[in-house]
Order: sequence, then C-alpha cells, then structure tokens
Amino acid sequence: MNKGEQLYEGKAKKVFQTEDPNLLIVSYKDDATAFNGLKKGTIAGKGVINNKMSNLLMQYLAKQGVPTHFVEELNDRDTLVKKVTIVPLEVIVRNISAGSFAKRFGVEEGIVFKQPTVEFSYKNDALEDPLINDDQALALGIVERSELDTIRTYALKVDEVLKEFWKDAGVTLVDFKLEFGRLPDGTIILADEISPDTCRLWDSETGEKLDKDRFRRDLGGVEEAYQEIMQRLIKNIEQR
Ligand code: ADP
Ligand code: UDP
Repeated sequence: MNKGEQLYEGKAKKVFQTEDPNLLIVSYKDDATAFNGLKKGTIAGKGVINNKMSNLLMQYLAKQGVPTHFVEELNDRDTLVKKVTIVPLEVIVRNISAGSFAKRFGVEEGIVFKQPTVEFSYKNDALEDPLINDDQALALGIVERSELDTIRTYALKVDEVLKEFWKDAGVTLVDFKLEFGRLPDGTIILADEISPDTCRLWDSETGEKLDKDRFRRDLGGVEEAYQEIMQRLIKNIEQR
C-alpha cells in the first residue's frame, strides 16, 4: 500500500490517504510538543518507538476484545490503519494522581485511586482541550449516549489489560489518553496511538518516569527513557 495525498499533519504524526478509501497510512514523527504546542522539540527515534509500541499494544488489546484501527505495520514509521471519523474526545483514564488532575484539585502526584477514573476533554486546540462531561458532549452533539457507554467500557478494559501488562514489565501505568473513532457503519473502535507520548509510565521499583514527562519537565534522559520502556515491552511480549 502506497502513500497518497497527505490529509493532515499533526503534532506527532502525518496522515496519508491510500488507494483504498477505507484505509489510511499514519507516519510517526520525532517531533514532540507539550503544553498545547507551546513547548516544541525533537526526541530522536521517538517516531520509530511509538509506531512499534502502539502497534504491539493495539494487537494485544485486539486479542483481549478491544477492536482497534490497526491493520499492518508497513515500516519503522508507517502503519496502515482503518480510516475512522474521530470522536473529538480525549478519553483519559487515571489510576494514580498526576499531571492536570493533581494541579486542578491541588493534590500531590502519586495518590493511588481505589478505582480508575475516566474523564473526557473536548479535542479542540483553539479552546485548549477543555474538560467536558457526558451531558455537555451530548448537548454539543459530538457523540451519542450509546457511543459514550461503549467508549467508557473499552477505556476501562484497556486500563485493566494494560495495567496488568505493564505490571509484569515492572512498570506502573499511572494514566493515559485514548481516542476512538467510527467506522462507516458506525462501529466504535480504538484509534490514534498508545505510546509514552500518551501514557504516564513509572518504574514500579524506583518511581522513575519513563514517558513524555521527561520532555515536558526537562528531566533529561528522554531518548533513554523511550528506549528503556520499549525494551521492557518487547521482553514482556516475548514472554506471553
Ligand atoms: P494532533 O492532531 O493532536 O496534533 P497527531 O500528530 O497524532 O495529533 O495527528 C494524528 C491525527 O490523526 C489526530 O488528529 C488523530 O485524531 C487522527 N487519527 C488517528 N487515527 C486515525 C484514524 N484511524 N482515522 C482517522 N484519523 C485518525
Ligand atoms: N495526554 C495526551 N494528550 C493530551 C493530553 C494528555 O496524550 O493532549 C495524556 C498524558 O500523556 C497523560 C494523560 O493523558 O498520560 C493525562 O494527562 P493530563 O490530563 O494529566 O495532562 P497533562 O499533564 O499532559 O497536561
């Protein structure tokens, strides 16, 4: 499958048409941004790692009953995916307080929740992705009630599966962001990516951050952290 017209260039990926109207090619870049694009940089090798990691995790999730957009990894940076209409919600699942949750509610990072929390942000760069609740999303007409139920069920399933997966790799899954989309027949599937750009991953023993917070917070060792988390994932996949 070859790249056709470029449909979109985002902050982390480019999206291309293909000869099949139902399929797209996503191409992962090394560009990194944070704070709604205010901080910009490059993380060498990130695109290759995020492409591979997202594909391996999505294939694993599909086996556990979560349908995804993954079709075929074409090369180090490019993947063939099912084209969806993205539901404009950032679906965030949290197991431990961190990031915007800690800031918004004035609590420290690291509080372990009794149960996972699911929250939604409205995917809208101009508005800086504001928090949105179910009723507001329904009022805006961006999603249906039944779709919200499906999205929440899948999001919690992803959390259950990945928490266990990362635990076996010596990693604590703190929180993550998912995006879902609709196939032409309306079926909801998991889209976009699952990577250290979109998850908080802490070493279970030391608490060391092995994700994009190293870039956001200028902690150093960014490339090394992405390589380390990838190595742990590969080792854990091989053991399954
Ligand atoms: P952003 O738009 O936030 O800068 P990216 O650089 O990751 O993000 O761009 C990828 C874009 O492709 C995102 O807007 C994402 O919603 C969209 N996307 C991801 N998977 C699919 C898919 N299967 N079909 C259509 N669009 C997708
Ligand atoms: N996240 C993301 N894209 C976003 C916002 C958040 O992938 O546009 C991820 C982020 O990496 C973290 C989780 O979602 O794993 C929760 O992020 P949070 O709301 O704490 O926001 P942040 O601290 O990134 O501003």
